[in-house]
Amino acid sequence: MTKPMTHESAESPSKTEKQSILEQTEHSLIRWFVDRDFPKYRAKQVLSAIYQRRIDSFSDMTELSKDLRAKLDEHFYIFKTKTAESQQSEDGTEKLLLEMPDGGRIECVLLRDGPRRSVCLSSQVGCAMGCVFCASGLDGVDRNLTRGEILEQALKLQRLLEPEERLSHIVMMGMGEPLANLRNVLEALDVARDSDYGLGISPRRITISTVGLPPAIDKLAEAHSPFQLAISLHAPNDELRTRLVPVNKNIGIEAIMAATERYFAVTSRRLTFEYVLLKDLNDTPQCAEQLVKLLRRRTAMLNVIPYNPVPGLPYETPSSEAILEFRRILMEGGINVMFRQRKGNDIQAACGQLRRLREREPQIVTLNSHV
Ligand code: SF4
Repeated sequence: MTKPMTHESAESPSKTEKQSILEQTEHSLIRWFVDRDFPKYRAKQVLSAIYQRRIDSFSDMTELSKDLRAKLDEHFYIFKTKTAESQQSEDGTEKLLLEMPDGGRIECVLLRDGPRRSVCLSSQVGCAMGCVFCASGLDGVDRNLTRGEILEQALKLQRLLEPEERLSHIVMMGMGEPLANLRNVLEALDVARDSDYGLGISPRRITISTVGLPPAIDKLAEAHSPFQLAISLHAPNDELRTRLVPVNKNIGIEAIMAATERYFAVTSRRLTFEYVLLKDLNDTPQCAEQLVKLLRRRTAMLNVIPYNPVPGLPYETPSSEAILEFRRILMEGGINVMFRQRKGNDIQAACGQLRRLREREPQIVTLNSHV
């Protein structure tokens, strides 16, 4: 169900002279306060007001003096994006299309599943990986998102929750390849897991999803990254994977598997492999058997997700029979496998779909200020 839309004010003040407070680290903000003769504890107070108390205006930080609120407002802004569109699915999934001052558009999704409140965030405007079944990669990549732009997605989705609800999980699985923007992604996730002033989400509940870039996986291992790592495999052999995930041509499954083993050796954290199941392409019994051989002796979990069709792309959801047979072979092969339900089927919840649809139909984009 698409929510009714209203136009956000086109006269919002120019933010070019001000800085984004979401780009500030606790350390840089402390320096800002100390330079202006304010006590340094104010930094944490302001950051926790934004991340934990969901305040989106300095004027609402009534625990601060009027003078300090005015100074903060003079130097910083909190949000930079406009909510270009919001959609809500009947299953509770909500999706936002956010527009940045430079015109770049990104998508982010809130998923409600029992007590879980998960957000799926984008790491880039567009994507260079070119997975053939994905709307985000169709037009290539424009740029990396900054740490603040990644955090802003989480904060805007958090504002959709009831006051007593909390964000519980983050998946970096929206538009873009997170490992191609590793520094900004890790900086944003460090705030997400910070329980002092940040979102306080356990790193075990934060997942970075990648097509598998071995040098970046090695960097994560070297840094002893506390986050979960998910590899989007989508095919059990190089010939098919290169057809589905063209960047695989220069990488190869073997190199990815070797990198995941090095990662596991250092972190001891179980990896997840993601497999989008596409009708008549990678859903065959032969593919399932090859997957069993590839994953059998690894400490890994396999998530299989039946494809969510994208308008304009020729790929389809597999039949229930094919899905059942695929599952049977994997389970009999001893693979630790989960078949995930598709959420947000009635909205354009697969990554990049809404952005692409709206770029082609700009006349129907109306702006909504409900977040
Ligand atoms: S599936 Fe992910 S990695 Fe592949 S093109 Fe889409 S956003 Fe990029």
